[in-house]
Amino acid sequence: MVASTPSVDRASEIKVRQLLRRLPGERQIANARKIAALRKPANDLRRLLKRDYVRSLRRGLGYGEVRRVLATFARIFPAFNSRSVGIMPTKNFGTIAAKLGFTVKAVPFGGSEGLALRGFYAQRSAGVLKDPLIFVNTAHPPVVALTSFVHEIGHHVSREILRLKPSRTHFYFDAGYADQLTEPSELVADVVVSIAGYPEKVARKIFATPWDWGLVARASRLSDNAFAEVQRHLKEAYGFDLYLEHVPAEQRLQYLGGIIHYAKLRWALLAEYDL
Ligand SMILES: [Zn+2]
Repeated sequence: MVASTPSVDRASEIKVRQLLRRLPGERQIANARKIAALRKPANDLRRLLKRDYVRSLRRGLGYGEVRRVLATFARIFPAFNSRSVGIMPTKNFGTIAAKLGFTVKAVPFGGSEGLALRGFYAQRSAGVLKDPLIFVNTAHPPVVALTSFVHEIGHHVSREILRLKPSRTHFYFDAGYADQLTEPSELVADVVVSIAGYPEKVARKIFATPWDWGLVARASRLSDNAFAEVQRHLKEAYGFDLYLEHVPAEQRLQYLGGIIHYAKLRWALLAEYDL
């Protein structure tokens, strides 16, 4: 990530605000539940820790749908689910965007309000956007920005596979992860993120705890051992160490929520769909 000066931050903040104003579904930004979750990160975290992700996965997405989305992703990222999708310079986002037919804007959008927004996916709309638009907030550490980019590509790719109605803009906030499990369009975007970060071999190693696996697959309580393995992997593959990142305490809590969410989702994909 390029260190940004305050004036650069200001300029990109204005750019992002202009962008947001043009979007048809802009009011969605005031998504009440997400904002509430942002204010109470500890509540959200408690919900995530308890939740059985296998149930949420099974309810939201079929095996066939997941397989089809993964096959499409394997054409975008070679060795998808065999190797972690690595950090890339933001100019590579543009190359991928050109190939897939969307526009990408990757700029920092800082401040406490800005940081909450990780990115968004806006559909093409007559007179406003010629092509779908993906915004990635690069004020976050590189692995977080990459996560946002992959999540938004997930929206772009899954529209047709899941036959989703062309709808509003999908805003991606760094909160309310538990809510993302109940909406198939968000769930599928998070599924690809968790596979991008934890390819199959890594997932099998992290979640190799057969004593936790009953007759019916569950993915609820992440063991201390699994959590330690998750952290080790994030450091090794992405150089990301939550405790060393220079971020405000509250932001750290949001990142922790994201780590738990994606790890549990990966566990559920392995336990339920053997992926
Ligand atoms: Zn989303």
